[in-house]
Amino acid sequence: MHNGKRIRQGAIAIEDKVIVDIGKTHELRRKYGRGYEKIDAEDKIVTPGLINTHQHAAMSLLRGYADDLPLQEWLEKWIWPIEKHMTAHDIYIGALLTATESIMSGTTTVNTMYHYTPEENEAKAFADAGLRGIIGHVCFSWRKNEDRKALEDLAKNWHNKADGLIRVSVDPHAPYTVDPEYMKELRRVCDELNVKYGSEKAPIIWHMHVAETADEKEKIRKAFKIRLKGGIVEYLDSLGVLDRHTIAAHCVAMTDGDIETMKRQQVKASHNPVSNLKLASGVSPVPKMLERGVTVSLGTDSPCSNNTADMFDAIKTAAILHKGINNNPALLPAQQVLELATTEGAKALSWENEIGSIEVGKKADLAIIGCRKPHLQPLHNETSQIVYAAKPSDVETVIINGEIVMESRKLAKLKVEEIMENAEKAKNNLLEKVEHQF
Ligand SMILES: [Zn+2]
Repeated sequence: MHNGKRIRQGAIAIEDKVIVDIGKTHELRRKYGRGYEKIDAEDKIVTPGLINTHQHAAMSLLRGYADDLPLQEWLEKWIWPIEKHMTAHDIYIGALLTATESIMSGTTTVNTMYHYTPEENEAKAFADAGLRGIIGHVCFSWRKNEDRKALEDLAKNWHNKADGLIRVSVDPHAPYTVDPEYMKELRRVCDELNVKYGSEKAPIIWHMHVAETADEKEKIRKAFKIRLKGGIVEYLDSLGVLDRHTIAAHCVAMTDGDIETMKRQQVKASHNPVSNLKLASGVSPVPKMLERGVTVSLGTDSPCSNNTADMFDAIKTAAILHKGINNNPALLPAQQVLELATTEGAKALSWENEIGSIEVGKKADLAIIGCRKPHLQPLHNETSQIVYAAKPSDVETVIINGEIVMESRKLAKLKVEEIMENAEKAKNNLLEKVEHQF
């Protein structure tokens, strides 16, 4: 994914966390013969690790709990009532399950928005798994004091921690759950945290849901008695909360003014096609955003609105959805969609100086895909194979930050059986606490 280049019979040299050389195998073998551990990737494709730019990792505990409902009813009647009972330990267990699933499907970076608790949290789960990620704390108007404390604790303890694997973000839930004054205050909090704990190279970013459904304007009017003249992004811009370290998830109900504002403020989009289709939220105008030069990346959204952390699914769905509804098979070609899941994902998280491509000087975040399988043969085009034919189970080996976290589908740091058992236990405990269980 570095300038669209592809090296056949190639090799990559890694020292510590960093890619130090890339070239033909015979050349690198001469230069790096001794003292280097080798991974044989013959007949396999080595790709940059996939970047999932919108997740709620801990929600894996609710996978399959409530399906086939519209967003508002799903959130208000099902998800929020059960989430009230989630303990810090549940959040850790759920996030660890998603981290495991992510690594096993070739994803090396995950941007997750959830409730942060100091005791146990998603940051600890990702660090324990060896997964790179941005951990947010989701903010709502109804719990301002709690949010302020959580954000300070999160930034202080986790920003740029765990060997640089973990960064943090400030996550106002959405324009209809965060009032305009609080939205502005959170922007000040984000700026202050950046001064204290962030840097130009490793900023604390701003992550929120934006224009997920067509009735968002109506929801803002009902909640805060504000009548929007333009679109949702234009409204957020009028509050002065947008900048280039902002990632807007969904961007479905967008006006032309919204797209222009995103371009001008360099706001990045996270496109979540599977979740948007499942919740029937609509289809994001991705071709239009790309045409106007907006950075678009890909996300799965939560494991109960998707219901997996499978980025191959997000990639293929994005590739075929926009072709289908626009009657244009040339839209979002394979190469471009793979960029959305790698280089553009890195840009969307303001992390492109370190991840997103296989390039000398970048962190070694790689996925190795085995191709000796009927559905991946014969091989004409590697990119086409990844975008249209590959599945998570084809990913054999994953390296994050130079560390082998999965080799030949065996996880180095995680006990999968135990993680699944703990998730089942946590699920049962949660169900006991809610009234409307099955
Ligand atoms: Zn979401």
